[in-house]
Amino acid sequence: MNEAPQEDDCDVPERPPPSSLAPSSRYTPPDGAMPKVLEVRGVSVDLGGRRILDDVTFFVPKGEFLCLCGPNGAGKSTLLKTILGLIKPASGEVVLSGRVGYVPQRKTFDRDFPATAVELIVANLRGGWPVRVKEAERKRAREALARVGGEKLLDKNLADLSGGETQRVFLARALITDPVLLVLDEPTAGVDVQGRAELMVLLEEISRSDELAAILVTHNLAAVSRTAERILYLDGRVVAWGLPGELLGKRRFSALFGDDAGEE
Ligand code: ADP
Ligand code: MG
Repeated sequence: MNEAPQEDDCDVPERPPPSSLAPSSRYTPPDGAMPKVLEVRGVSVDLGGRRILDDVTFFVPKGEFLCLCGPNGAGKSTLLKTILGLIKPASGEVVLSGRVGYVPQRKTFDRDFPATAVELIVANLRGGWPVRVKEAERKRAREALARVGGEKLLDKNLADLSGGETQRVFLARALITDPVLLVLDEPTAGVDVQGRAELMVLLEEISRSDELAAILVTHNLAAVSRTAERILYLDGRVVAWGLPGELLGKRRFSALFGDDAGEE
């Protein structure tokens, strides 16, 4: 994985590369013939009169674990919101083959929200509050929590959960709708060392899964090197889209990492 990329990389894919990548790109995108769970085609987004994303094109094959990296303000969260349908692109399109599960950044979540884990998880099945949980829903919530080793959290108040536990509950909430793609926006930020280690194990399991694809935004180098099957480096546009060995350890990318290492 850490092999130096060949300078004269002749494995140029047959289809033309995305317009935002130079034709001489040394980065290896996935095989275009694979079944895709997500295709982002020429997406541009304007916010507050400014172009935030410019002609972004990439796809995620079934089961692939993609790490989305880039400096602060690069438009990573904006891209995720566009994939989730929360932001309408000025041009281009997003094509999904199934449901998307979303795990938010912990710091965007109001920790005093008066609800239990089971209510938060079931609300995602229903698409709304308030929730009076039925027995069948409770069973599904318990199963979703069991998938992330959090069964005992079922009836806990969200306010009483640690950072790692909160993210486990959000992971179960995302998984309960049987998504084809999981989208995680800096899930380890604001989580203590132990919680982060536990989350990492779960992320590695997801990475190994051939069924569930994921897009992980993180500044945590350990998370990237342990989970990424491919890396998309975004800075308003696609700067690089390739294999971990083609990006990690390169001076150009190393400055990106370390941001969430010392939080909390
Ligand atoms: P990242 O997640 O990579 O740090 P964001 O997607 O959050 O970046 O933000 C990208 C840029 O878009 C930033 O300059 C940010 O200030 C701007 N931005 C984000 N949301 C809005 C908004 N609702 N209105 C105007 N500008 C926004
Ligand atoms: Mg962000």
